[in-house]
Amino acid sequence: MSILVFAELADGVVKKTSLEAVYYGAKVAEMLGGTNTVIAIGNASETELAKLGNYGATKVLHAGDSKLESANIMAYSEVLTAAAKSTGATVIITAKSSLADAVTARTAGALKAGVVGNVTELPKLDNGFSVTRSIFTGKAFAETTINTDIKVLALKKNAITPVTSDSAAPVEAFQADVNDTAFGAKITETLKATGTVPLPEADLVVSGGRGMKGPENWQPLLDLAEALGATTACSKPVSDLDWRPHHEHVGQTGVKVSPNLYIACGISGAIQHLAGVNSSKVIVVINTDPEAPFFKAADYGIVGDVFDVLPKLTAAVKAG
Ligand SMILES: Cc1cc2nc3c(=O)[nH]c(=O)nc-3n(C[C@H](O)[C@H](O)[C@H](O)COP(=O)(O)OP(=O)(O)OC[C@H]3O[C@@H](n4cnc5c(N)ncnc54)[C@H](O)[C@@H]3O)c2cc1C
Repeated sequence: MSILVFAELADGVVKKTSLEAVYYGAKVAEMLGGTNTVIAIGNASETELAKLGNYGATKVLHAGDSKLESANIMAYSEVLTAAAKSTGATVIITAKSSLADAVTARTAGALKAGVVGNVTELPKLDNGFSVTRSIFTGKAFAETTINTDIKVLALKKNAITPVTSDSAAPVEAFQADVNDTAFGAKITETLKATGTVPLPEADLVVSGGRGMKGPENWQPLLDLAEALGATTACSKPVSDLDWRPHHEHVGQTGVKVSPNLYIACGISGAIQHLAGVNSSKVIVVINTDPEAPFFKAADYGIVGDVFDVLPKLTAAVKAG
């Protein structure tokens, strides 16, 4: 049985979500008794690619053609499809991202494979091949059976915590015959936010809601974020009121985040807010109202006034 994992690169570095997918692939390979090949597309150093062995890759294919340096959905789908055909993969694993979502769908289409997104657990094999997926923005789970010979699974962020080892995987160049028409759309310029880690990539997020009372009161939240090295975020009304910039707005209609730590300061925890943050590994909620809905989603809750709690947390972080 051959498993194939798509490892997405950003500036030559394998994305954290892809490392989770590689580890998940290793676990699926263990269950099915097979190999866990990883295909990395784009520019990456040998050291970066070698790292994939530590996450459970048994072999790494590198499609490093200079034409593939900038992420191109059509071309990447053709490369992933070609790699699936050449390795005879029967399970293909990708990780959630805007690029991977598009590549996953096209690859599944090309291979006439059943595809399931937002997968949260390892497959169950007792009655065919079924997977659990998160639905309704994390409010429920569905069991889905895939009947096609080739199965494509798109893993939800933070669904699995990789355990690394010192295993190594050979890296081989992979050449796919990509049709010229696949390069019909070209990325000519990429503008990147500078300063802190962009929200979708952030590992630590400190976020504020209307309970912060006004833009002039944000300093205690910024101080905690700085002490932690965290990225700042906010609820929708906060950005609608222009208290904070729109790119900080998280939720159903905002940025989706999946940090290891999300600290919600004076945010009620409306379902639309939770939709964008409930993939966070640990959620800490600070709210004066013990009945605030956010406490139900929290791992740790502090019933208190943000203006008392935040300086104390900052001092504790600074004290180490
Ligand atoms: C279609 C649609 C899409 C939406 N999309 C989003 C979205 O993407 N993201 C989003 O965030 N919202 C979204 N919303 C809005 C959402 O429903 C809520 O209105 C919003 O999340 C509430 O923001 P809030 O928690 O900051 O404010 P509030 O609901 O006003 O809550 C403020 C909280 O702060 C607490 N508080 C007050 N003072 C203090 C203090 N001193 N210390 C500690 N706690 C204090 C209060 O107890 C309260 O729980 C959407 C709504 C709709 C209809």
